[in-house]
Amino acid sequence: MFAKARLKLTLWYVLIIMSVSVLFSLAVYHGLSAELGRNIRHVSLRMPPQNELLPLPFRAPPVLIGFEESLLTESKERITIELVLINTAILIVSGLAAFFLAGRTLKPIEKMVEEQKRFVADASHELRTPLTALKTEIEVSLRDKKLNLHRARDLLLSNLEEVDKIQALTNYLLSLGRYQTSQAKLPFETVDLHSILDETVEKAQSLAYEKKITIRLDGKALKIQANPTSLSELATILLDNAIKYSHQGGNILLKLRSDHKYAAFSAQDFGIGIKPSDLPYIFDRFYRADASRSKDQTDGYGLGLSIAKNIVESHHGKITVESTPNVGSTFTVRLPLKQSKYS
Ligand code: ADP
Repeated sequence: MFAKARLKLTLWYVLIIMSVSVLFSLAVYHGLSAELGRNIRHVSLRMPPQNELLPLPFRAPPVLIGFEESLLTESKERITIELVLINTAILIVSGLAAFFLAGRTLKPIEKMVEEQKRFVADASHELRTPLTALKTEIEVSLRDKKLNLHRARDLLLSNLEEVDKIQALTNYLLSLGRYQTSQAKLPFETVDLHSILDETVEKAQSLAYEKKITIRLDGKALKIQANPTSLSELATILLDNAIKYSHQGGNILLKLRSDHKYAAFSAQDFGIGIKPSDLPYIFDRFYRADASRSKDQTDGYGLGLSIAKNIVESHHGKITVESTPNVGSTFTVRLPLKQSKYS
């Protein structure tokens, strides 16, 4: 598809360049022919010997000494050949340049389409797993002649789990879509980052409690310009991950600090950590390190950090990670205290 588009674009570029070049050549040809004709005619008129004593009106007029029409035709032919050669050279050079430029123009679009295709394929794949489980459970139960109320209830509970998974995935996908299409268009207001983190910790307590994890929040009130909903989504993603990848009875430390331009907050856990070979990819959509796939308690879709990165970027900030396997991970987010009006 892109090879065809590249050829079409090349043809358009060449057509535009050649139209200008041919028009220019025609103008040059006409200009030069007219000028040559005038010069040749002028050279063909010669002054006869003059009597300098006579006043001007009585002197002998110029004499036509013969006008070589063939000279003019020959010159015109030579000009035509040269212009044809120049235009052929322009056609070849512009063709090659246009092909190269068309490739460069289409490259980012091709990359975007490829990414979009991969995204749709990954999303469908992730959706298919819980849907297949749901379908199989229902089909098996329908064939069961001895299905009683107790079993039907178990089936519904199991179905509900799968529906929850599908709902979580679609929420993630919607979130991702929202941040990718509305980058830098989020409504900002002055918010206290500390109270957002505090609320997030509060909401995560029940999850932490199940794994007997202690969460500590260090820092004091800090006002920044940001979108409060996105910020609390960002903090939730980082804190949920810290809990998910911590060991039973572990600790999580949230730190908030600032310098004169930036606010920085970090989420540190002492859990399974991330292998150096996985680190470059963890912010990619649908990427999950093997360690998190193999353990069934750490369910997820590999979308959280990708959303987190989009949120941080829409606030013109930066997210970084430091991690050592079996020691723990620290995710640090740096956000500007003030947002530029024109960004
Ligand atoms: P999910 O957690 O749903 O798999 P994320 O996008 O949030 O997806 O994270 C991507 C991957 O990064 C995870 O699968 C996991 O391997 C790794 N990861 C993220 N946060 C942590 C953490 N705090 N500790 C260890 N690994 C982590």
